[in-house]
Amino acid sequence: MSKKFTIFGNPVKHSLSPKMHTYAIEGLNLDATYTKTLLEDGKKLKELFLKNFDGASVTIPHKEIAFELCDEVDDLAKSIKAVNTLIKKDNKMVGYNTDATGFYRSIKEFEGIKSALILGAGGSAKAISTILKTNQISCSILNRSSERLKHFKNLGFETFTWDDLFKKNFDLIINTTSAGLNDSSLPCPKDIMYDIFSNAKYAIDIIYNINTPFLQLAKKFNLKNKDGSDMLLYQGIEAFNLFYDNRFSYDIIEKFMKKAF
Ligand code: NDP
Repeated sequence: MSKKFTIFGNPVKHSLSPKMHTYAIEGLNLDATYTKTLLEDGKKLKELFLKNFDGASVTIPHKEIAFELCDEVDDLAKSIKAVNTLIKKDNKMVGYNTDATGFYRSIKEFEGIKSALILGAGGSAKAISTILKTNQISCSILNRSSERLKHFKNLGFETFTWDDLFKKNFDLIINTTSAGLNDSSLPCPKDIMYDIFSNAKYAIDIIYNINTPFLQLAKKFNLKNKDGSDMLLYQGIEAFNLFYDNRFSYDIIEKFMKKAF
């Protein structure tokens, strides 16, 4: 029977996931569709999902509500408190977080990372801080405002706002803010950026396909750097593997999904 997959989000129009998954479905000759579902009211997600789909991706702003609505979640998603992948099992909604594992795979080429600084304190910062901690990389969070830092503080992470004076060195700097997505701003004031970049080795912006001011500055500081394309690709491959119960090799899915970039 034909399988049905979708991505729930708002907005969802510009998502690359349908293209990525459709290339893999077609390349592997599978009987399936992967569509976009614009979802305004997140509370309706479970009913819509169980009625119409076998698996789904979840994007902004529904990752947290999807977590709340799941019947079961895996351990990693439980510690992040957000899911980006859903599977239907025995008419139950089961949730996973492949943003975290996808991110971690994307920084494998950066060797010997002992410490990281995350700029931003939103949903993706939660996923990334959790996976770094799981892999024994010490992680601090810097955000422009303090409200969202509480979550991280409660979990024992070191946190800063722009007003805190800090002179610390971090191997890897990660931009998870939307600065640079639709504007030409840096994620934090220039003097702070200069301080943290002058002592770092690597930089990653999880925004994809844009040479953001953050990445431009990282290049000026000669840091090894990359954007969020690999993270997006890897979280997609891992979601596909969950949809098909690991029936296909990582490499073959990657070969087809890559065509979307
Ligand atoms: P959230 O809205 O949950 O969090 C955004 C965070 O960034 C907040 O802490 C906010 O600060 C801060 N912020 C927003 N705008 C600015 C700005 N102009 N300057 C400084 N700080 C700012 O977003 P997500 O964490 O879900 O996603 C963030 C970005 O990551 C998006 O651009 C998204 O496209 C990208 N992304 C990429 C993925 C990939 O696979 N490559 C996967 C997931 C996300 P405050 O608390 O003060 O409001």
